[in-house]
Amino acid sequence: MARKSVYVIDLTKIEGDGSFPCPKCGTLISPDDETETVYTILETKMRGEDLEELIIQCKVCGSKIRLTGFLSYPTSQVE
Ligand SMILES: [Zn+2]
Repeated sequence: MARKSVYVIDLTKIEGDGSFPCPKCGTLISPDDETETVYTILETKMRGEDLEELIIQCKVCGSKIRLTGFLSYPTSQVE
């Protein structure tokens, strides 16, 4: 396994309040938790004024996790 592998979580496939277990260590991560006790936000990708993607790092195991699916509706305005 490559050490640089990044886990990808599609938020549209997560039921409930949007929290999910870390793919590696199972720590529950809640995107609504802004205290950053269990994860750190590494990168934020925006599309216009909307959040498109978030790259976070689990503080427990150090895994990088890419969160996608913030833009759940199809982009009708293609430039
Ligand atoms: Zn973890």
